[in-house]
Amino acid sequence: MSGVLVVMEQRGGAWNRMSFEAFEAGLALANKLGTDCIAAVVGESVQSMAWDSKSQPNAMYAVENGALKEYTSDAFVEALAQVIKKLQPAYVVFPHTYQVRDFAPALATRFKQVLISDVVAVHEGPVFVRQLLQGKLNADYKHSSQGPCFISVQAGSFRAEQAPASALTMEVFTPELDATKVRNRPGERFRESAQTVDLSSAPVIVSVGRGIGEQENIGVVEELATALGAEIAASRPICDNGWLPMERQVGSSGQTVSPKLYLAVGISGAIQHLVGMKGSKTVIAINKDENAPIFEVADYGVVGDLFEIVPALTKAIQNAKG
Ligand SMILES: Cc1cc2nc3c(=O)[nH]c(=O)nc-3n(C[C@H](O)[C@H](O)[C@H](O)COP(=O)(O)OP(=O)(O)OC[C@H]3O[C@@H](n4cnc5c(N)ncnc54)[C@H](O)[C@@H]3O)c2cc1C
Repeated sequence: MSGVLVVMEQRGGAWNRMSFEAFEAGLALANKLGTDCIAAVVGESVQSMAWDSKSQPNAMYAVENGALKEYTSDAFVEALAQVIKKLQPAYVVFPHTYQVRDFAPALATRFKQVLISDVVAVHEGPVFVRQLLQGKLNADYKHSSQGPCFISVQAGSFRAEQAPASALTMEVFTPELDATKVRNRPGERFRESAQTVDLSSAPVIVSVGRGIGEQENIGVVEELATALGAEIAASRPICDNGWLPMERQVGSSGQTVSPKLYLAVGISGAIQHLVGMKGSKTVIAINKDENAPIFEVADYGVVGDLFEIVPALTKAIQNAKG
């Protein structure tokens, strides 16, 4: 067993961009090990998909079969198990997408392995870093058993540089699949947040997180946004709860913003949130937990209760404006 295999994700012939971040992680791992980085994509007619990232794989496989047109965990596990048996990689790397979370543990189990999920960094060793307790602790993991090591890479942890789309020679691998053994029937897909509000051009954003406690309290933050002439945004739990519309969500499954000022109120700073706002010029965070990870990206941090600080700040801004 040698080499690194990165399993890219596509839907209807369009890449899931997280795949390229996973590819960068796979490439970094391959470089550390002095080995090849191979990529594979699973689907029905994926061989002609154009590659649009600056870094390129040493070889690429299109894993094609009519039974792989729609995602099902049974068919993907069987198809990828056959690919792994053929290529014998030492490491198999995935983007940590919803789809991967669904099938990758079962695939790892086929090889009597576990999936090291949500990896945010790869160090010499190789040592894989995962975050615990909402990012307060980093834990190091090493693969010590026989068999391939399976890892999934957290969104935003590795940077992929986009390049003009170019054709990539893909070798077609056709797994043998028995349709009668596929037990799953594809249902309706998870709806990512729609983007009817364009937060990307807002110069000032006040963003609210779960620290707000309940929907009735959102007004406290809205008043601050109005005083600052800012757009209001939110972390995912706020939008999932329907307290603010989905299009106001910032993060890996929401919008990416880069305002002059991003004021994070009651937001812990989970990596999926940080990837959407870390390009902001100035970040101010208000959080009652001095160890909250948001303070690591904040230029100014206020440790305290938002229900005391935000109304006082709003008042001060209103007074300053006269
Ligand atoms: C695949 C996937 C995609 C995701 N996509 C996104 C995404 O796009 N965007 C996103 O935001 N998240 C996303 N998440 C969720 C993410 O992992 C976190 O769960 C989420 O960001 C946490 O939101 P939060 O910071 O508002 O809540 P919490 O993590 O619960 O943090 C609340 C914070 O408020 C503070 N607080 C509590 N009370 C007060 C108070 N009175 N005054 C001041 N501070 C207070 C607490 O100390 C805490 O730090 C995604 C997760 C997954 C798995």
